[in-house]
Amino acid sequence: MVPHEGHLMTEERNQESEMTGQILDGKATAMVVREGVAARVAALVADGVQPGLAVVLVGEDPASQVYVRNKDKAASAAGIAVQTRKLAAETTQAELEAVVLELNEDAAVHGILVQLPLPKGLDEQRVVEVISPEKDVDGLHPANVAALVQGVEGLLPCTPAGCIELLDRHDIALEGKHVVVIGRSQLVGKPVAQLALGRNATVTICHSRTKDLAAEVARADVIVAAVGWAELVQGDWVKPGAVVLDVGINRGEDGKLVGDVDFEAASQRASWITPVPGGVGPMTIAMLLSNTVMACARQTGRVETLIEDGLETSRS
Ligand code: NAP
Repeated sequence: MVPHEGHLMTEERNQESEMTGQILDGKATAMVVREGVAARVAALVADGVQPGLAVVLVGEDPASQVYVRNKDKAASAAGIAVQTRKLAAETTQAELEAVVLELNEDAAVHGILVQLPLPKGLDEQRVVEVISPEKDVDGLHPANVAALVQGVEGLLPCTPAGCIELLDRHDIALEGKHVVVIGRSQLVGKPVAQLALGRNATVTICHSRTKDLAAEVARADVIVAAVGWAELVQGDWVKPGAVVLDVGINRGEDGKLVGDVDFEAASQRASWITPVPGGVGPMTIAMLLSNTVMACARQTGRVETLIEDGLETSRS
């Protein structure tokens, strides 16, 4: 189903919640978020500010090239001025950091994203730490990680923020729910757990040393699978009526993309479930664009205020 502007009608949702396996359509929801971003960009441009995003790509990794191209296209479509810096695989740590430092100083650039993973020999953590926290639209700088943990203003990592946005846009509340996150990476597992905790969920984080994953998952009202293991989560582990967010992106034996959850079986029991592809993935890009506009508004002394159907920008 396709969410319209803002939220779903309650009556509509109630009718559907009696059925099982409603698709949490990330592609459609991301389009709605992106339309909202385009409106926020237009408001800033009308106020004399052009939001800008710099994407740094080091080397020739084919997957990274596709990701960067998609981000560039999506940002441009929303009216964001994008510059992609393509650097050779042989780029040194010092050269890469110099590019990031230059972008930090560039007033036309409000968001900086260094596409990961970097080629071997480059220190990713060190590069992330060189990015100005207020331009860190990937939300990976230690200052933004600390802000998330402390529940204060910062920039959120895009995939976890996209998971929560997808739930919000379908009026799926987390308060009091038992959320089981599978995976504890800095990129997805830990921040999504922290965001769920911030929404007053009771959170369990599972990982490779978890003794009985099936038993943990079976207790979940909401499952977030972020492992990178094709169809690890079996359909019969899913509690009837649970919500399933499948972050995993894996190549199946037939070459097709599959998630970390056995979609066919799990969708028979879940109340809501994300497909792969077309679930969490598109939300990640939408949140990158949203972060860029938010960063731009903050850096130029504007305040974005939450209003009924989106955000309103004004001068602080
Ligand atoms: P990661 O850094 O490799 O982390 C994987 C996590 O899974 C680790 O915490 C690991 O535990 C845990 N794990 C491994 N085997 C397990 C098992 N048998 N049972 C329970 N937990 C297990 O991966 P990531 O960066 O978080 O990404 C996870 C997946 O999401 C990948 O498929 C990635 O491609 C995808 N992804 C998608 C998006 C998107 O936009 N949709 C964005 C980012 C990532 P240990 O900590 O104990 O090793």
